[in-house]
Amino acid sequence: GMPEAPPPVLAPRRPTRRIKVGKVDVGGGAPVSVQSMTTTQTTDINGTLQQIAALTAAGCDIVRVAVPTTDDAVALKAIATKSQIPVIADIHFQPKYVFAAIDAGCAAVRVNPGNIRKFDDQVKEIANAARDAGVSIRIGVNAGSLDPRLLAKYGKATPEALVESAVWEASLFEEHGFHDFKISVKHNDPVIMVRAYELLSERGDWPLHLGVTEAGPAFQGTIKSATAFGALLSKGIGDTIRVSLSAPPVEEVKVGIQILQSLNLRPRKLEIVSCPSCGRAQVDVYSLAERVTAGLEGLDVPLRVAVMGCVVNGPGEAREADLGVASGNGKGQIFVKGEIVKTVPEAMIVETLIEEALRIAATMEKT
Ligand code: SF4
Repeated sequence: GMPEAPPPVLAPRRPTRRIKVGKVDVGGGAPVSVQSMTTTQTTDINGTLQQIAALTAAGCDIVRVAVPTTDDAVALKAIATKSQIPVIADIHFQPKYVFAAIDAGCAAVRVNPGNIRKFDDQVKEIANAARDAGVSIRIGVNAGSLDPRLLAKYGKATPEALVESAVWEASLFEEHGFHDFKISVKHNDPVIMVRAYELLSERGDWPLHLGVTEAGPAFQGTIKSATAFGALLSKGIGDTIRVSLSAPPVEEVKVGIQILQSLNLRPRKLEIVSCPSCGRAQVDVYSLAERVTAGLEGLDVPLRVAVMGCVVNGPGEAREADLGVASGNGKGQIFVKGEIVKTVPEAMIVETLIEEALRIAATMEKT
């Protein structure tokens, strides 16, 4: 038959230059990658590698580690060598660690020009060392550490100030013929952040790393990031993303992947279509949806499972999904690919759905 058309997206990706972060391509139409950052002490090599392994298992594409001291810089070699995904060294204040990170085999280095005194004088050396090693750079402008000159000029970290800082630092690298960098202009306010990236995307074809900085605890941070990234990605802006949460980094990765899946920028996997419940519900929809979600966690196939509280929209949604239940009268009608396959007592709904899901998943994995 006809090959299935790719799922629709809200806008074509904006053309950007493609760079490499180790084995991961960023920009130039490469899939939008998901990043996170370790929270372990970088000097704790085993702890850091364990966290990187957990992030890798969660689907993280690129990981960043902080390099605040010489001991952290020393630890980079073991971490960069053993990590399964590319490692970016995050450097503030000390340019000498940039060179240490390049020597250690890191895939990329993040520099924050606002936090490196006399940064401009060091760009040439950094560009040469990075070029020789095939290492890319992120110019990471951050509202909280804006170049003092721009803070003085604009009074605060406005979108224009963030962009001026980024464009200036980019020009310094470009003057030395170095183009393998991406840029971020992060702010904790999604409105300022979105405006900054929009302005920046009009100024050049640099690949852009999206982030709402200090987005907050999981609930608020998830919403701020999803809103801001959604606004930008829906216009084709953004080549790699990092969700910042005051929560374990694996949570950041899950949120990042879910944002991309929601926008069809990454194939959807398991999707639970559950109703919000209402006065018509004859079962506890929340509990059903939660137990089904928990029971199917980690299932790595594109499966839509509908969990519906009653027969108003229940049969319709359940039919549209790969698998579903429409509940009522102490029973659940179980649908598979639009057909009612059985009716089970309420107490059996969750286990029946999980059983059917695993059965369908097994046939999908075979094909
Ligand atoms: Fe209410 Fe039924 Fe719709 Fe769920 S499916 S929200 S219970 S009408």
